Amino acid sequence: MATVSITHVGEDVDNAFGLAMERADCTGIIRSGDRVLIKPNWNGCSIAASTKLVTVLAACRWACSQGAGEVIVGEGPVPVGRPRIDAYLAEMGALEALSRVGARFVLFDDDEHVIVANRDDLPREIGIAKLALTCDVLINIPMLKVHSCCLTTLCVKNLKGCLRPADKMAFHRIGLLPAVVAMNRLIPAHINLVDAMDAMEGNHNNGPLVPLGVYIAGRDRVATDAVASAAIGFESGTVPLLKMAANAGLGECDLDKIDIAGEPLTPQRLQRSQDHLRRNYPDLNIQEAGACSACSAALMDGLYTAGSARTVKSVALGPQVNPGSDALVIGNCTRKHWSSHDHVSGCPPDGAAIAKALQKDKADTHD
Ligand code: SF4
Repeated sequence: MATVSITHVGEDVDNAFGLAMERADCTGIIRSGDRVLIKPNWNGCSIAASTKLVTVLAACRWACSQGAGEVIVGEGPVPVGRPRIDAYLAEMGALEALSRVGARFVLFDDDEHVIVANRDDLPREIGIAKLALTCDVLINIPMLKVHSCCLTTLCVKNLKGCLRPADKMAFHRIGLLPAVVAMNRLIPAHINLVDAMDAMEGNHNNGPLVPLGVYIAGRDRVATDAVASAAIGFESGTVPLLKMAANAGLGECDLDKIDIAGEPLTPQRLQRSQDHLRRNYPDLNIQEAGACSACSAALMDGLYTAGSARTVKSVALGPQVNPGSDALVIGNCTRKHWSSHDHVSGCPPDGAAIAKALQKDKADTHD
């Protein structure tokens, strides 16, 4: 049974980090002299939406205490341009702070990538940060945030930062969720910790912060994400990315099969990106009746990928919806309308398929 720990973080962050590791059975993974890579979520966009520096420093000190011979913090931020990334790191004070604890920062964009090509489940060619594939131990440390396309963005999604900048949008084009899962099959994540001292609701880069004051940690990335998702109100089995990752053999997503150590799980529903779908797309007529949040998330992924190429002005989703005549109907539970409407199948449908349908100006998906 996978074990995931929930640990209160007080003033002594180092102590909380060590306790989270001990409770999650992560001590003893690092061997003497190991090269350890810490992968935070340092996105280059917003420090508030990033793994806290104090958490990363605690991870560095803990790795050294476990016998690491070298500690590297590596990240490939959102491609916002080098000046903005440099300013973000400078404002955080990351490089100086890391050097004080004997660690160094590597911007993956400047470092070597291993080319992976011609796989069915990934874009034709991608580059993965070589450090992520060659380190002895990878410590994966995202922040707890909701996400418009994945519902939550945690350990599984955090490894997308190991991609070359040019490859990131390609993931949306072929289907973000299956591509993220496929990439996770290539990258080990030996130790996983979700920094939930603060969680971000509403939007994954500029939403309000909700103090939760805990670390959620485990060896199993999927189980760790399942517990962290449950902590903000996503019940077991309701996050499609985690179900897909579990089906791919990456870990356990069923809360009934996860042993929670330390503090009890006390779910607190945070605002989701999907709660603001209509506000974010005012020119789109969204008819929704009884739709799951997974379908709304897939729609948001499709809308993001389609961008300004979208031609469809009306969509309908959910089992009880009564779609207007011009609506694109989304999801298997709208099946009874497929003979009369353009549709996208799936439960939930794939964001890339929705994006494609949103760019059509002529019906061609009728049964
Ligand atoms: S298609 Fe599936 S995920 Fe989407 S609303 Fe219907 S039941 Fe929910």
